[in-house]
Amino acid sequence: MEKEMKKCTVCGENKPLDDYYMQKKTSKKKGTFYVPKAECKECSKKQTLKWQYDNYDYWKTIVAKRDATPEKKMKTREAARLQRERGDQKKWRKNNPDKTREYSFYKQMNGTHNISNEEWVACKEYFNNSCAYCGLSEEKHKNKFNQRLHKEHVDHEGSNDLNNCVPACRSCNGSKWIFDLEEWYNEENKNFTKERLIKIYKWINEDYKKYIKVEENSLHK
Ligand SMILES: [Zn+2]
Ligand SMILES: [Zn+2]
Repeated sequence: MEKEMKKCTVCGENKPLDDYYMQKKTSKKKGTFYVPKAECKECSKKQTLKWQYDNYDYWKTIVAKRDATPEKKMKTREAARLQRERGDQKKWRKNNPDKTREYSFYKQMNGTHNISNEEWVACKEYFNNSCAYCGLSEEKHKNKFNQRLHKEHVDHEGSNDLNNCVPACRSCNGSKWIFDLEEWYNEENKNFTKERLIKIYKWINEDYKKYIKVEENSLHK
């Protein structure tokens, strides 16, 4: 059976219905029903980010209010529990270095990012060779963690391409994890400023295009 496709009104791509958020509608005749949104999930998320950027001060007041709701508090507690579990994972990795190495090799082989070396270098340069979230430089990161900056998916469920990738330090990479940018961004992330948010926004929407390389041979270095 063929999957039902729908053309996104923003990017113009034909995508399966799973790639669209559903929207609740009510009419007198039909009662409550759901229809897919006009724009795909990816475009939808980008629009949200753009809106947050354009309405920054207003958005911050909404976030502050929402963070105070019981549901949000539950969510925060659940996130803390998951992070504790991750702490256990860390111990496990420490005690099982061989298996851990095997796993990261497997992950590398499967390519969690479709980004060439050249593109990654350009991406890091765009962010001044620093963490896009907190600004920690790669130099300092190397001294602190003995490793380079990580490739970070801005949208955890988004693409593996340059338009969803920024450099991140180990601690931001770990603390942001599966959270959406706006969800993660709150008063506790003191180093994550509006300027940085704007820069990330510009990168994933526009500026990455200047650095993307399409030649086949540059993809497999
Ligand atoms: Zn789209
Ligand atoms: Zn950072």
